[in-house]
Amino acid sequence: MENEFLKGKKILIVEDDLSSRLYLNKILEKAGVVILNAGDGQEAVDVTLNNPDIDIILMDIQLPIMDGYSALSKIREIRQDIVVIAQTAYGLLGDKEKILNSGFNDYIIKPILSQNLIEKLIVNLPGK
Ligand SMILES: [Mg+2]
Repeated sequence: MENEFLKGKKILIVEDDLSSRLYLNKILEKAGVVILNAGDGQEAVDVTLNNPDIDIILMDIQLPIMDGYSALSKIREIRQDIVVIAQTAYGLLGDKEKILNSGFNDYIIKPILSQNLIEKLIVNLPGK
């Protein structure tokens, strides 16, 4: 079902695990989101550079080539204001403080449930 708040918003999914990425794509597609994808940290930086109208980035922390922390810091050099939400694995709750201290706007814990993701994105929408 399309979501009135998320419809037409541009969201970059950064996830190296293919099945997780497809799962997130399916949820956001249903909500009417315009989706971009990146499979590693460097690609996330490149896609952000080429798409100045991204509303939210959903960033996995453990990524090949460049991890989520390094990718975020590069992205902050390009876009200080962009909303970046970390995806962190269950059991890595100690990362919570590090994530928020690193400049992420928020985080969501894996496994990600559809309704939690939708709510998390809505509360973090720019201008809300
Ligand atoms: Mg990963």
